[in-house]
Amino acid sequence: MGSPLTELRCKQCNALLAKNDRDGLSIRRGELQATVTGVDVTIAVTCYRCKSLNVLKPSPASTRAAA
Ligand SMILES: [Zn+2]
Repeated sequence: MGSPLTELRCKQCNALLAKNDRDGLSIRRGELQATVTGVDVTIAVTCYRCKSLNVLKPSPASTRAAA
């Protein structure tokens, strides 16, 4: 059934912080939306709910071998 979106949640309070799909890592909060693309990317996000710092890594959906 295709590749489901991977939800990235706060490690502390389990709030939804971002979604990881084939197009990249999508962060949406209110009217702000950001999409981060890249293979080797690390994003630090402060949880909007509990203020704890979460480090998110988009996992490449397409497992192509890195050139
Ligand atoms: Zn949290």
